[in-house]
Amino acid sequence: MGMPFKAHLSGQRIFACSKCGVHLAYYEDIVSKSFQGRHGRAYLFDSVVNVSVGEKENRTLITGLHSVADIQCNVCHSTLGWKYLEAFEESQKYKENKFIIERVKMMKEDGWV
Ligand SMILES: [Zn+2]
Repeated sequence: MGMPFKAHLSGQRIFACSKCGVHLAYYEDIVSKSFQGRHGRAYLFDSVVNVSVGEKENRTLITGLHSVADIQCNVCHSTLGWKYLEAFEESQKYKENKFIIERVKMMKEDGWV
């Protein structure tokens, strides 16, 4: 047992977990802001930190069949969104190995705009 390892980001525009405040991602790593999560708007990120990836499952989304896995905050264990493991449609391949985080699950550290 011990404290979970926490990666620390440094920069001007950082998203943090809205529940526990641990760093999650850089604004600069947003690929797209026009995704839909379970709780409204969601962002697609190139990379995130301090999350763990759950079980792989196949889901049929509006854009076709995808293999995805839910992602959880390493510190407070809240479900933040999901990771795209595989997309089966050629037009959706850009999502592979990228991460969806629901907007309501993130806060802007230090309130940047
Ligand atoms: Zn958290």
